[in-house]
Amino acid sequence: MARKILVTSALPYANGSIHLGHLVEYIQTDIWVRFQKMQGHDVHYVCADDTHGTPIMLRAQNEGITPEQLIDRVWHEHKADFDGFHVEFDHYGSTNSDETKRYAQDIYRKLRANDLIETKSVEQFYDPVKEMFLPDRFIKGECPKCHAKDQYGDNCEACGATYAPIELINPYSAVSGAQPERRSSEHYFFKLSDARCQEFLSAWTQGTQCEQTIAPLQAEAANKMREWFEAGLSNWDISRDAPYFGFEIPDAPGKFFYVWLDAPVGYMGSFKKLCELKGLDFDSYWNKDSQTELYHFIGKDILYFHSLFWPAMLRFSGLRTPTQIFAHGFLTVNGEKMSKSRGTFITADSFLKQSLNPEHLRYYYAAKLNGTMEDIDLNLEDFVARVNSDLVGKYVNIASRTAGFISKKFDGEVAKAEQLAGCDGAVLMGEFLAMSEQIATAYAQRDFGRAIREIMKLADRANEYVAQQAPWALSKQEGQASKLHEVCTVSLNMFRLLTLYLKPILPKLAEQVEQFLNISPLSWSDAAIPLSGKINDYSHLMTRIDPKNIEAMVEANKQTLAPAAEIVAAKPAISPIAETISIDDFGKVDLRVAHIVNAEHVEGAEKLLKLTLDIGEAQPRTVFAGIKSAYDPEKLKGRMTVMVANLAPRKMKFGMSEGMVLAASGDTPGLFVLSPDCGAQPGMRIK
Ligand SMILES: [Zn+2]
Repeated sequence: MARKILVTSALPYANGSIHLGHLVEYIQTDIWVRFQKMQGHDVHYVCADDTHGTPIMLRAQNEGITPEQLIDRVWHEHKADFDGFHVEFDHYGSTNSDETKRYAQDIYRKLRANDLIETKSVEQFYDPVKEMFLPDRFIKGECPKCHAKDQYGDNCEACGATYAPIELINPYSAVSGAQPERRSSEHYFFKLSDARCQEFLSAWTQGTQCEQTIAPLQAEAANKMREWFEAGLSNWDISRDAPYFGFEIPDAPGKFFYVWLDAPVGYMGSFKKLCELKGLDFDSYWNKDSQTELYHFIGKDILYFHSLFWPAMLRFSGLRTPTQIFAHGFLTVNGEKMSKSRGTFITADSFLKQSLNPEHLRYYYAAKLNGTMEDIDLNLEDFVARVNSDLVGKYVNIASRTAGFISKKFDGEVAKAEQLAGCDGAVLMGEFLAMSEQIATAYAQRDFGRAIREIMKLADRANEYVAQQAPWALSKQEGQASKLHEVCTVSLNMFRLLTLYLKPILPKLAEQVEQFLNISPLSWSDAAIPLSGKINDYSHLMTRIDPKNIEAMVEANKQTLAPAAEIVAAKPAISPIAETISIDDFGKVDLRVAHIVNAEHVEGAEKLLKLTLDIGEAQPRTVFAGIKSAYDPEKLKGRMTVMVANLAPRKMKFGMSEGMVLAASGDTPGLFVLSPDCGAQPGMRIK
C-alpha cells in the first residue's frame, strides 16, 4: 500500500545565498524523496525561507528597502538555486505567511493554556542609538583572551576563543558603533524543564512512546540526547523585543516570537499552502493520531532543537510528533572548513554559472553520504576524477558503445525478449535485476554511498561484458548479425536498469535516457520490464568535467565574496571612483573625531540639522548638516562622528557653518553618518 509521507528540509535563512554546504541537505533530501516517489508512495516535500529576525530587519534598512522586499528578492534567488540543482519541492514557501502566523500563535496559545509558558527578566546588550536589543553577532569588541580587535560577541576569529558578549573589552554595537548598555526586559520562555516535557521526551527520543514504531533518532543522535538529558533541560527563550521583523506574540504587545516558535512552524505553513493547492487534508497529516509519516532532514547543529523543543512543542499543543529526524554532518572542501579567502565558500549560483553540471555534484554528494552525522568532504580533484570515471567512463559508456549498432544495423529495433532467452547476457541481466532490492534498501536507509557502490559494481560488469563481446568486432564479421543484436540489446537493458537505479540522484539525465530509449518515466516497479520495440538515436548524454571550470569557480568565489560581515548589502554598481590624488593632497584635509554635543532642528530648513561639535577646542563648533531626512536629532546627541575641521567656514541662510560632518550615501535611499570605533576621543586626527 502506498505510504503517505511528508518530508521537510531545514529552512534556509533569507539573509544570504545558498552555498554548497547548504546543498548537502537539500540534495540528500531530494534524492530520498525522489526514491520514495519512485516506490509509488504518496510523498510531499516542503520547505520555506526562514524570513524573520534582526539580521533581516537591519539588512533591509541598510539597503533602503522593506523587509518584505528583501525576503521576496532572496526567495527568488533561493528558488532559482534549488531549481538549478533539481531540488524539487512540492511547495517552497516563506515563514512570513498568514498560515505560519496562525499556527505559531495557535501553538503558543495551547502551550500557554497548558501552563508551559513563563516570563522572566533577561539582561541583554542594548544599542542606545538604534534603540534596540542586540543579538550577540551584532556586538563587537576586543577579544578578552588574545586582545584582537573587532571580534564578534560570541567568538574570536583570531584565536578561536568562545565567550559571552559581556566579556568583550570595549564592546560596541556593530549596527551604530555606539557603546551598548545592559538593559533588562521581560522574555517569554517555553518550559522545557517542566516534568511533563522531561518525562515525554525521555521516552520519545528513545522511541518508546506507545504510538512509536521506530526509533526517531539515529543511534549517534540518541546518544547525544542522553548527554543532554544528564546535563538537564532548560527553558527556551522564545521572545524578542520590538523593533523586530516577525510575528507578535498574542496578548504581549511589543514582544515577538524568536526563531524557535516561528521557523519550524513554517514546515506546517508551507504544507498548508500545498494542501490548498492540491486539495489535501492538512489535519490528517498533523493531528495527534495521524497515520501519515513525517520526516525532517536537518543539519546536526539544529539537532537539539528538532529532537527536544520541537516534539515537545507539538505534543503539548495537541499535534503529532515527527516519525524520524535525519541529521547530517557539515561539508568541508578539500579537507578544510569552507573559506572565503581560499575561494571554497562556493555559492550555488557560481557553480551553475561556470556551466558545471549540477547532477555531477548530486552524484558526488550521494557517493559520500551514508545516513550518519559524519561530515563529508568535497575534494575538488577527487570530484573531477570520480565523476569523469564513474558517470562518463563507466555508465554513459555502455550506451555510447552499443546504441549506434541498433540504430544503424537494426533500424532502431531492439532484439525481442524471446531472442535473448537463455543467452549469457540473460543471466547477467538477471543479476542486475536481483540487485534491485538491496539498492532500494540502501536508498531507504539514506546510505546513498552504498547504493552507488553497488550500482558501479554492476556498471563494471556491464563494461566487462561489452568488452568481451566486442560488438564493434561482431559488426564486421559475417553471420554475426543476430549475436550483435543480442549483445547490444542486453547492454542497453543493463543500461536501462542502471538508469533506473541512478534516477533519484540523476533525474534529468534519466529523463534524457528515457527519451533516448523511448520508454515511459521509470519507476522502481518497472525494473523487470525489458526494452522492446524501437529506440531513438543515441545523442551525447554527458560530458567530462573540465578542471579549468573548477579553477574558474574557485577564483570567482575569491573575488565575489566580501569579507565576513553580517550586514553586507547586495552589491549594486557603485558610482565611479574619483581621480587619483597624492598622499600630500589627502594630507591637506584635516579630519577629526568630533563629539556631537547637541543636535537640533533649524526652523525653516527642509534638509538641515544644526550640530554642535566638540573637537577638543576651547569653543565647540556649529555645523549645518543636510541629514535631516535620515536622523532624529535626539538620536545624534552624544554620538561620536568624523568632521572636516579645516574646511573654509561657509555663511549659510541660518548662520555660519564651521566644517562638515562625514556621511555615506549611494543610489539607494539612506544617509549614514560615520562613527569612529569605540575609544576614539574628540579631536583625534584621522589619517
Ligand atoms: Zn582572540
